[in-house]
Amino acid sequence: MVAQCIDGKSIAAQLRSEIAAIISSKCQQGYRPPGLAVILVGNDPASHIYVRNKRQACAEVGVISFYHVLPASISETELVTLIHMLNIDNSVDGVLLQLPLPSHLNTGTIIDSINPAKDVDGFHPYNLGRLAQRRPALRSCTPYGVMYLLDHIGQAYKGKHAVIVGASNIVGRPMSLELLLAGATVTICHRFTRNLAHYVQQADILVSAVGKPGLIKAEWIKPGATVIDIGINRLADGTLTGDIEFEKAKTRAAWITPVPGGVGPMTVAMLLKNTLIAAGYSPTLSP
Ligand code: NAD
Repeated sequence: MVAQCIDGKSIAAQLRSEIAAIISSKCQQGYRPPGLAVILVGNDPASHIYVRNKRQACAEVGVISFYHVLPASISETELVTLIHMLNIDNSVDGVLLQLPLPSHLNTGTIIDSINPAKDVDGFHPYNLGRLAQRRPALRSCTPYGVMYLLDHIGQAYKGKHAVIVGASNIVGRPMSLELLLAGATVTICHRFTRNLAHYVQQADILVSAVGKPGLIKAEWIKPGATVIDIGINRLADGTLTGDIEFEKAKTRAAWITPVPGGVGPMTVAMLLKNTLIAAGYSPTLSP
């Protein structure tokens, strides 16, 4: 078997062009373009690259981005004060807080201060609670992007066993809630899981979100499985790779996402989609 690659890059480009068309039509009707406030704290080089990509994507589709670059030394009170101002600013539909934050800031407290209706990352406890209660509102971008890819390939969920490796608040946990909502039987593995291979071998849908290259061995993959690699790891030679042994896994899986060019571009596209939803433009987008 040779797996079919799920081309997140082109699926995301298609979604961005649909979003651009909706914004253009709204603006022609006299509505203002959606606004996204982007907050970047400190000098983490990877965060600067992610924010640059997100702002470029905003510009491409016609979302206005308001950029707030803050020193690493900023206090929790100052940051929360800025967020409170953005919460009541009518030109701002979405507030994006780029993570990670410097260690003296309490990430949970600061996410709590974002108006849930503007939480376009879908990290606020209100939005995660809504997803847990099967009434999703704004959904976490990366898991939402994975669901978009799975729907795109016509993935069946009911009666399928989905195994998620990684249980973080921003990726693994909301991913498990999305797949549970879709009707899959869900197993979540994490750093304390014993015998990871035992669980991975049972996966009809395997999602890895750990950040350890080669953690998932190709021989563990069930023949015919759908394999989604969220992990992004930079190797010593500068190349990017996921958590899964991609080349060998291709000979067992039916569908697989590459790294780069799989889930990554979808995360940014879903941020734009969430911004559109937060702006009240209720898009009807494929699939
Ligand atoms: P995190 O460090 O917060 O969480 C990692 C999770 O992996 C934890 O739940 C931990 O228990 C688990 N884990 C660690 N070692 C393990 C092991 N040996 N076996 C099983 N589980 C193990 O990371 P995160 O923020 O959730 O990100 C995970 C990965 O996804 C990273 O590589 C990150 O760069 C990537 N990521 C990609 C995107 C994207 O758009 N593609 C978005 C967000 C994160």
